[in-house]
Amino acid sequence: MTFHPARRPVPGLAAVLFLLAPIAIAQSANSKPILIHVDLTDAPRHLLHAHLQIPVNPGALTLEYPEWIPGDHRPSGPIDNLAGVFIRANGHDLPWRRDLVDLYAVHVDVPKGVAQIEVDLDFLAVPGSTGSDEDGATDNNMAVLEWNSVVIFPAHVPVSQIPITASLTVPKGWKFGTALTKTGEIGDTSSFASTTVEQLVDSPVIAGKYFRELPLAPEVSPKHYLDVAADDPDDLDLKPAILDSLSKLVRETGALYQSRHYESYHFLLSLSDSVRGEGLEHHQSSDNGIEEHGFSDDDLEITNADLLPHEFTHSWNGKYRRPIGLATPDYHVPMQDDLLWVYEGMTQYWGDVLAARTGLFTPDQYREALAFSAATLDNQPGRTWRNLQDTADASSILREESPEWGNWRRSQEYYPEGELIWLDADTTIRNLTHNQKSLNDFCVKFLAVGGNTPPKVVPYTFDEIVADLNSIAPYDWRGFLRERLDSHAAHAPLSGIERGGYRLIYSDQPTAYEKALLGKHGAADAWFSLGLRINGEGEIIDVRFDSPAFKAGLGPQAKIVAINGHGYSDDVLKSALKKSKASPDPLELIVSNTDEFRIVPIEYHGGERYPKLERVTGTPALLDEIIKPLTSPAPPASPGK
Ligand SMILES: [Zn+2]
Repeated sequence: MTFHPARRPVPGLAAVLFLLAPIAIAQSANSKPILIHVDLTDAPRHLLHAHLQIPVNPGALTLEYPEWIPGDHRPSGPIDNLAGVFIRANGHDLPWRRDLVDLYAVHVDVPKGVAQIEVDLDFLAVPGSTGSDEDGATDNNMAVLEWNSVVIFPAHVPVSQIPITASLTVPKGWKFGTALTKTGEIGDTSSFASTTVEQLVDSPVIAGKYFRELPLAPEVSPKHYLDVAADDPDDLDLKPAILDSLSKLVRETGALYQSRHYESYHFLLSLSDSVRGEGLEHHQSSDNGIEEHGFSDDDLEITNADLLPHEFTHSWNGKYRRPIGLATPDYHVPMQDDLLWVYEGMTQYWGDVLAARTGLFTPDQYREALAFSAATLDNQPGRTWRNLQDTADASSILREESPEWGNWRRSQEYYPEGELIWLDADTTIRNLTHNQKSLNDFCVKFLAVGGNTPPKVVPYTFDEIVADLNSIAPYDWRGFLRERLDSHAAHAPLSGIERGGYRLIYSDQPTAYEKALLGKHGAADAWFSLGLRINGEGEIIDVRFDSPAFKAGLGPQAKIVAINGHGYSDDVLKSALKKSKASPDPLELIVSNTDEFRIVPIEYHGGERYPKLERVTGTPALLDEIIKPLTSPAPPASPGK
């Protein structure tokens, strides 16, 4: 991108910044706050402008751009999309040189007598090479600003100790929501109370032409808000049932976690088919991005049911309580991901349970989602070489991997398999204590430690998890967890489902959840039958190791042209699977690979197979107990305005 003149410091901007600066500015021992102004007026063309005033001392200075992004668990800071970087002192350009080892750092010599430098930079909100969450977070009608994409600051100082004061200009007439405290507004420019770089990066902004802020569970303190930006203004009118469920989510988390670790909480929600899908947790807010009709279309709604409960839960599990290896002092120190099966796995568990407790999932949908996830894990041969622990340890290299041969490589299974392990733990505690205790009690012990607090980080270790579980129900929890984390068993840990009174079976009809999920991705699923995952065009996305399709010699990137003499379609596939049961002949596929065609016979006679949970009669239905709400079923009238 070429430098855009609009990015130059605007005459009079310094005066505006001064006017907007809050009276009480948090000062660290010897430093004034950095001032940062972000201009979103070019967001519709995917261009964000930032101007920073950074207090400095003369001499050698290193400036850092965030590399390891909290919640992303990896070095994904989108530095490839940084452009138009100019560093100046007293109106003169200062030469800078990038560090040859740490590419996120630049070195500058600050001349004598200079106490402040000015930095101009642009962020290109377009797809980049880091796969970062900031890519494409703008369109004609909205922008989601994650501040890590536009901030640069002196290196080697803990980010919790760098004061910073932000201001923001939005396109004319746009409104915005954020957990930052607004202190002033002139036209389309707003100023915020001084904070730290850590909290600024933790407090994204959602801005939109079509925007609405709705209070949730208004009787609860601290206050909770839903900040929605939509491409279609009609989508701002969310269904009353969704709003009721989100208010209930606020109440249920109060009952479950028995603490709050924020001053107020903002669910930022973008409804758009052009702005990227997202789920990024913060202490006092979450950045949630779903489809334009993600909460108005019934099928899409099912697939999005757990998103907000998941990201909200992270305020406790992940942000407040954080694995010690992820509680880094800045965004330069590499993060260690070994406890992500707690950070993400337990959040996955509670995200789904809370979706059911609040009505975002029906009980059937909860079980259907669990069945699909459990069956996928149970049919994943890669588990024989990569154990669950390694999916966490290697998380930063597994996040953006291709689905091709994904069942053999494995991905970030600490999410769904972590969920199975925590269900296993919950049902074990219930059994050990004759239903007097449950994982709910562990949550209070683990997540409410210290009572209600403002945003802060309380790190933990594996040993603390074991000790806290033991305090709820004495057991060999170390052995329990290590066995499941280190296992190379061919099958997934399904004991929690079984102890919950259900078993995983396969039927010839997909559940409503599986239909909705496959519909969302335009995919056909013969995964649990032939061992094929296929997109809407018949292209093979993945082949399950050791499956009938694998044994027939198929692999990803081939395209199925025909099955049993009929041109490929979802219906032709289903019909062929159905007939396979009664036929002694193999299925016959015509497959193209680049410009070569070949006939591939697959020996398979099992019919259609789709996972579901079946109730085991005569056993306690703990799974049904777990998803019962903790709060009264009659909430006050739904909020709205
Ligand atoms: Zn998460």
